[in-house]
Amino acid sequence: MPGADSSRGLFLTTTSLIATRGCHNRCDFCYLSTDGLRVPYQRRDVTQVAAEFADDGQPYGVFTDNNLGSDREYLRSLCRGLRPLEKIWSAAVSLDVTDDHSLVREMALAGCTGVFVGFESLRDENLRSVHKRSPSPSDYTRRVQVFHDYGIQVNGSFVFGFDHDTSGVFAETVDWIEQNRLECATFHILTPYPGTPLFRKLDAKGRLLHKNWDLYDTAHAVFRPERMTPEELEQGYAWCYRRLFSHTSVWRRRPADVRAVLPYLAMSYLYKKSNFLWHALIRYRLTATVWRPLVEWTRRRHLGFRRQLATAATFARPAGAADFVSAGV
Ligand code: SF4
Repeated sequence: MPGADSSRGLFLTTTSLIATRGCHNRCDFCYLSTDGLRVPYQRRDVTQVAAEFADDGQPYGVFTDNNLGSDREYLRSLCRGLRPLEKIWSAAVSLDVTDDHSLVREMALAGCTGVFVGFESLRDENLRSVHKRSPSPSDYTRRVQVFHDYGIQVNGSFVFGFDHDTSGVFAETVDWIEQNRLECATFHILTPYPGTPLFRKLDAKGRLLHKNWDLYDTAHAVFRPERMTPEELEQGYAWCYRRLFSHTSVWRRRPADVRAVLPYLAMSYLYKKSNFLWHALIRYRLTATVWRPLVEWTRRRHLGFRRQLATAATFARPAGAADFVSAGV
């Protein structure tokens, strides 16, 4: 396709992969729960996925699956198929993959450097209220540590506005993120997408503020929360982002291992505090030129880490995991 090659320079990576479709969960707020939407769980041939990854010739790939961890045995076989490629990648997985340390180890051995995890809430009652089948928040800390033990960075996703959320939820959540040193987080205002069980419930109770779909974007309060005002919800959400990207928060989330602090700070500031740089890179189509060497450096370091991991006892905490900082996530 004309121009396709030059446009590749616009992206951090062009390797966007899909191995599965669907999710074993059906959370009330998720678009997968939309009335009439049939998304049976599907898995692609591992060899084909690995070949696509190899053919794109890039060091780093992103899996855009809803939940790459829905079928653990499939994920295990995918990891075994990806491992010989010696690349790095990230994916969204549900937290329950940490039930099985050997699976997280296989992910690391296959090049996984980062996961996106929907924690959603730190309150059990919130998870139950939207039928999210997930490990208990009281066990989140231990499970985050399992990823960190295998050198896998965690980008946590949190939702605000559940019925048991009060105005204290914002500080409580960011404090937890900092205590657990999550490398990154994304925040969302609970949004009742039309056709979902959440939409039906809020509509039936007369709690929807309007049906201006343009504002159903997870950044606006479009319903009346149970224990705070819509304004408090929007302000708390915005405050969380300001706090997460503050110097104080970046510093609080630094890795426990002092050897990793400098690379972590460099990556954090490049990613989170350098909008001027990103605007210039995108404008002059230099994203790949500038970023690719950093990603390649990460890949090579990760190969060294994988060699150590492969020789460590299966359930031993691998040396070097804590000082691994990825340029890929
Ligand atoms: S676990 Fe995530 S992908 Fe699966 S149904 Fe829930 S929100 Fe959707």
